[in-house]
Amino acid sequence: MSVNVEGRNNMIKENLDAVNGNIQAAALEAGRKQEEITLIAVSKTKPVSMVEEAYACGCRDFGENRVQELCDKCDVLPKDIRWHLIGHLQRNKVKYVVDKAYLIHSVDSLRLAQEIQKEAEKKQVDVNILIEVNMAAEESKFGVSPDEAENLVREAAKLPNVHIQGLMTIAPVVEKPEDNAVHFANLKQLSVDIKGKNIDNVNMNVLSMGMTGDYEQAVKDGATYVRVGTGIFGER
Ligand SMILES: *Cc1c(COP(=O)(O)O)cnc(C)c1O
Repeated sequence: MSVNVEGRNNMIKENLDAVNGNIQAAALEAGRKQEEITLIAVSKTKPVSMVEEAYACGCRDFGENRVQELCDKCDVLPKDIRWHLIGHLQRNKVKYVVDKAYLIHSVDSLRLAQEIQKEAEKKQVDVNILIEVNMAAEESKFGVSPDEAENLVREAAKLPNVHIQGLMTIAPVVEKPEDNAVHFANLKQLSVDIKGKNIDNVNMNVLSMGMTGDYEQAVKDGATYVRVGTGIFGER
């Protein structure tokens, strides 16, 4: 009995240590510094108590895919947590999240960016966003196509309270993480191309890519944020 309780109590810490170690090793292999990469602990569907455990281990970046859940957790957890909205955002939910999310990873239309502008202006806040790109052209996924990305960046860049920090992708579920290397490398290249256009009010310093199955590959290909849920908190 006590063995099980012990195991459960240490699970998150052990997982975090392992994931951080893997990130460090992948960074080293790629000749990158570990500080260039931030681990987002994806806590969706998991209880507040588990977020608190990860927080006690030093985690300050957490990812949620639903607005309601992000707001509920944000209200009761320490204020120095950076909440990342990583799931699809509906325009009618924007008003709840503009002043709570540290970074919105999932902007994939001008209409959504305009709604963020409208609510940001009302609340007098600045909102950092990423443009979500559907690199593998999967029917089931949100995100603009790589071809449309620059145009959306140019249009959204005109919104004064909205600040584009980079690009995000959700890669396909694959058997071998290397199978996603092409999508990660292409997202990196896309961000380099857009950066080269020197568009006002646009940064291309952030690349949000890689999940439990492929975050080490993503680090090798230039990720600055990796989003890991299952690998930290266990199966959902
Ligand atoms: C759920 C989710 C993750 C984390 O997925 P895991 O495979 O559990 O690591 C990462 N990114 C997004 C957008 C998600 O919705």
